[in-house]
Amino acid sequence: MRIKERYKSEKTGFSLEFFPPKEVEQEKKFKETIKKYVDLKPLYASITYGAGGTTQDKTFEIVEFINSLDIFAVMPHLTCIGATKSSINSLIKKYDELKVFNILALRGDPPKNVENFDISKGEFKHAIDLVKYVREYFDHFSIGVAFYPEGHSQARSFEEDFEHCIEKFKIADFAISQMFFDNEYFLRYRDLVIKRGVDITLVPGIIPIGNFERIKEFARFCKVTIPKKLEDIMSKVSSSEDMKKAGIDWAIKQCSELIKEGVMFFHFYTLNQFELCSEVIKNFW
Ligand code: FAD
Repeated sequence: MRIKERYKSEKTGFSLEFFPPKEVEQEKKFKETIKKYVDLKPLYASITYGAGGTTQDKTFEIVEFINSLDIFAVMPHLTCIGATKSSINSLIKKYDELKVFNILALRGDPPKNVENFDISKGEFKHAIDLVKYVREYFDHFSIGVAFYPEGHSQARSFEEDFEHCIEKFKIADFAISQMFFDNEYFLRYRDLVIKRGVDITLVPGIIPIGNFERIKEFARFCKVTIPKKLEDIMSKVSSSEDMKKAGIDWAIKQCSELIKEGVMFFHFYTLNQFELCSEVIKNFW
């Protein structure tokens, strides 16, 4: 099922992001986690590509596995930095053969182990190049892209990044946001897109906090704001259980407010866990 069609036919719903497990031992738990989510009826699962140190080949394996279960739709992420047209072509053809007609088209980040990596020398320089490529050669695919409610961390300014995202939105079918903890950023972004007259489904990326220190570190890296109120709440928790409860409550509050603002579709960053996201999801779906 193409995701763009689900966004058109459903009134509301949520999707889940997973990363391919690194070790064979983690695979069993991962597969159990995936199956636990079936009863919650997600619209689809998205599988990251080479993020967090996992290998890129694993994404295809996991997509193939979920697709074979026929439990929900699946969307592989695909990054184009350092890729060639030929490598992108052969991977998308493999998804085509599986009848997985969905792609989250991303640039990705320069490899950490290559010094002075020069993006300008690649066949794809930005996500837009991949979006155009998929549109041109695999138009039957549903194409998602990423966006950053507070601006991309490497962009010179919010405005410049916004303009680059608008170019992606004009061609793609839907867009998923980076995590954020203050809904104002998402809502302001949505207003700006509407003002520009671009019609695209903007899906908020929600991460229920399980480990605040780790989230803060990641937020610093991505230049995502941690609201003072959230800091205050987290400074008062006295156990990891309390922290998880506070994280779930914050995510529920975020979803409630966004639903009141007319947001219909959500994307949850599961970190391959069931407990936190399912506690949030069951309040709404
Ligand atoms: P782009 O849209 O290319 O933007 C990257 C930067 O380039 C921005 O600063 C932008 O303003 C600028 N830019 C864009 N177009 C132009 C242009 N034409 N000229 C000049 N500058 C331009 N990473 C992974 O490695 N694997 C994953 O699976 C993965 N999944 C993700 C899922 C989501 C929902 C999100 C939000 C991010 C994900 N990422 C993943 C991270 C992502 O790859 C990084 O944030 C990356 O730095 C940017 O990717 P992008 O697709 O947004 O790039």
